[in-house]
Amino acid sequence: MRILVTVKHVPDLQSQRSFTEGRVTRNGDDGTMNELDENAVEAALQLVEAAGEGEVYALTVGGPDAVAAVRKALQLGVHHAIHVQDEAIADSDVFGTAKVIAAAVRKVHDEAPLDLVITGMAALDGLTSMLPTALAAELDWSQATLASALSVADGEVTIERHLPDAHETLVAPLPAVVSVTDEANKPRYPNFKLIMAARKAPVAQWSLADLGVDAATVGKAAARTVVVDASPRPPRANRVKITDTGDAGTQLADFLIEKGLA
Ligand SMILES: Cc1cc2nc3c(=O)[nH]c(=O)nc-3n(C[C@H](O)[C@H](O)[C@H](O)COP(=O)(O)OP(=O)(O)OC[C@H]3O[C@@H](n4cnc5c(N)ncnc54)[C@H](O)[C@@H]3O)c2cc1C
Repeated sequence: MRILVTVKHVPDLQSQRSFTEGRVTRNGDDGTMNELDENAVEAALQLVEAAGEGEVYALTVGGPDAVAAVRKALQLGVHHAIHVQDEAIADSDVFGTAKVIAAAVRKVHDEAPLDLVITGMAALDGLTSMLPTALAAELDWSQATLASALSVADGEVTIERHLPDAHETLVAPLPAVVSVTDEANKPRYPNFKLIMAARKAPVAQWSLADLGVDAATVGKAAARTVVVDASPRPPRANRVKITDTGDAGTQLADFLIEKGLA
């Protein structure tokens, strides 16, 4: 079984976020692997372990700091890491990003066929959840999104999808693009041996030229979507802070009674 997992480098959710010209400011200091991509890595590792053979590739597209995302995937146990970076990719929208990822997937697939690409359900900065679908369209592969469970047998992937009022079981032929939710599994913790090995593990560095992608087809000029406006959320109004000087419980109860909440 050969699986490629996409992992995005995103600003740490706990950090103070800001925007520069409608884009999330990326200063490189606080970036990390998108937390939801840990479920994608875990799903791939579990499938390979269950099959008893296979390899998992982790792929990221991003600036120089994005290599941290694939190093984290190496710590979790993936076998190969790929970092695609090229100045021309900056400011790509979802379609440009999908085009670059698809070209990298094809390069790996041409060396030896892949069975699956597994993605997270959403990148916690962009949050469009469009990349998996756009990627499947670029590759012309089957897609099965928002899987809360998946299994592979007889050249097909089967996923379970929980919707608000329905439970779906979907079957798709391989190769396929599958996005997994945070219900799919419980990501493992990196062990010391893998943490040490990940520091020195090779990371393939690919440019657009390596992928045969024309720089004019990605980046801002080729973007089909435009960020019209973005601004920080205003601080919440009407916040009440109770300082405990021994009667915080009483103050809290009074507040709830006053608001008709008790
Ligand atoms: C005008 C414009 C300018 C932009 N400029 C930038 C920019 O300068 N820098 C920037 O980072 N983003 C930029 N973006 C956003 C970027 O294009 C999106 O992040 C990208 O299209 C993926 O969408 P998403 O983040 O919503 O991912 P989602 O669709 O929510 O992600 C789903 C899954 O796809 C995978 N994935 C998504 N993106 C990547 C990636 N880059 N590498 C590996 N796996 C990935 C992950 O597994 C993730 O869990 C820009 C967007 C626009 C419209």
